[in-house]
Amino acid sequence: MSAPQAPVTVRVPAKVNVQLAVGAARPDGFHDLANVFLAVSLYDEVTATPADALTITCTGPDADQVPLDRSNLAARAAEILAARAGIEPAVHLHIAKNIPVAGGMAGGSADGAAALLACDTLWGLNTPRAELLDICAELGSDVPFSLVGGAALGTGRGELLTPVGAGTFHWVFAVADGGLSTPAVFREFDRLAEAAGTRIPEPEASPALLAALASGDADRLGATLANDLQAAALSLRPQLARTLAAGVEGGALAALVSGSGPTTAFLVADEEAAAKVAAALEASGTCRATRVASSPAPGATVLPS
Ligand code: ATP
Repeated sequence: MSAPQAPVTVRVPAKVNVQLAVGAARPDGFHDLANVFLAVSLYDEVTATPADALTITCTGPDADQVPLDRSNLAARAAEILAARAGIEPAVHLHIAKNIPVAGGMAGGSADGAAALLACDTLWGLNTPRAELLDICAELGSDVPFSLVGGAALGTGRGELLTPVGAGTFHWVFAVADGGLSTPAVFREFDRLAEAAGTRIPEPEASPALLAALASGDADRLGATLANDLQAAALSLRPQLARTLAAGVEGGALAALVSGSGPTTAFLVADEEAAAKVAAALEASGTCRATRVASSPAPGATVLPS
């Protein structure tokens, strides 16, 4: 009998979009995007342990909102990888969840990428990186970036990645009560665009934003942050405007809705400013919790056992 395999734990970061440019709805309902992703030091950990069948558990402040069935992106990742390898997905996946759920920080995508890497390592498959990225793209538009981390421009539906340069930046995130459904925010984006009757330009990465990101100058980056989904998220959740204002009054250099929201992101000058802005946001009563993080953070990484 062979020795039981040791569990494999993968740490995976959340993301913030420093630019999210959204094109008009395509005939298939998706939108072309120019998405500048930045991985931040707010992590989930996924541990894969050999088991008789595929099972999932989850712990953390939002654990009760995480599905534990086959709709969990971590479970889907294990199933797709096992099917490709012609083996059974006989694994227990434990998610230690720290990334806000349905918060626009790609938490589910992060767990999908982490489970993929953890199972690949546990099962000794050594799947080539390019194939892992293909499976990530099959799982969802944000999943490839969770595997890669750092800073990248995503085009297409956001899944075609080109790495970009990024200096160090400091962030505060305000976690809202309840989530926002990403498809609902895109539908609201379409509704607002139709009501305004304006032509939506092709989404393009902003050269000024990419230069600011590479420079590491937080004032410059703050002046170029842009999220085309922000108006739609604010339309569905008007009280987020109070959270954004509270963070700026508290000393943030700039504020924006993270992805499809409702988490809000605050760019700050340094760690000291981060602590002040987090305290101001908590005192304002306009959010459920705050998290302090820095960027860029590495992508999904196997932790030493
Ligand atoms: P994105 O930023 O990629 O749009 P998000 O951060 O807004 O995503 P997620 O935390 O990924 O949202 O959760 C969206 C939904 O996905 C949840 O409401 C949940 O039902 C489902 N889901 C599936 N797998 C997971 C997972 N591992 N963790 C959290 N949610 C998951």
